Amino acid sequence: MTNENAIENLDKIITKIEFSRLQVNNQKIVQLVAISKYSTAEDIKKLYESGQRAFGENKVQDLKTKQEQLEDLPIAWHFVGTLQKNKINNLIDLNPILMHSLDSLELAEELDKKLKIKNKKMNCLLQINSAYEDTKSGVNPENAVNLYEEIQEKYTNINLKGVMSIGAHTDNNEKVIESFQVTKKIFDKCKGSTICSMGMSNDFETAILHGASMVRVGSALFK
Ligand SMILES: *Cc1c(COP(=O)(O)O)cnc(C)c1O
Repeated sequence: MTNENAIENLDKIITKIEFSRLQVNNQKIVQLVAISKYSTAEDIKKLYESGQRAFGENKVQDLKTKQEQLEDLPIAWHFVGTLQKNKINNLIDLNPILMHSLDSLELAEELDKKLKIKNKKMNCLLQINSAYEDTKSGVNPENAVNLYEEIQEKYTNINLKGVMSIGAHTDNNEKVIESFQVTKKIFDKCKGSTICSMGMSNDFETAILHGASMVRVGSALFK
């Protein structure tokens, strides 16, 4: 990716985000998180220099490596991947600005326990498996609101900020829309939630039209 590519890619995505946002007449801005999991520190730097500040990784080790490589840049790092229990302490030490993938009560309990030991807090989103796909992590939509409340009450070192989901994996746009609607409904019911993270390179415009306030775009930015 050249510097020119970086500027052009970012400009294109931001223009599309704004176009979709204005269609839903949303007063709030939609935040763009650049998912850099398939990219190098060099390419991240190019996007940073084009104006992008929020980046996300899906593996704890990759997050650590890239943070170290780019430690002189004030990047807001997000974590979006499945978190294994044996990596919890490592993730806490990396201080992500937002963890998108809290996907079970057990993980919440374990994460909270370890946060308490370290006397730290973490901003998290509850991941919803809104398309009911076996290959995806996330809690069942039916239990999501109850789980959200339970985590808020019991696990006080976790700051729940909202919900996250990955759209249905299909070319059928109706199904994709349906999955976003499921997540948006849950988002609306969860008290105090402010972030609805949904939409990736293939479907972020649809996600915005159906209520996303944060999109996670990888391949369309780094190309
Ligand atoms: C990889 C990834 C993305 C970005 O996917 P693209 O299709 O490359 O835009 C977004 N969210 C999560 C959780 C991811 O793992």
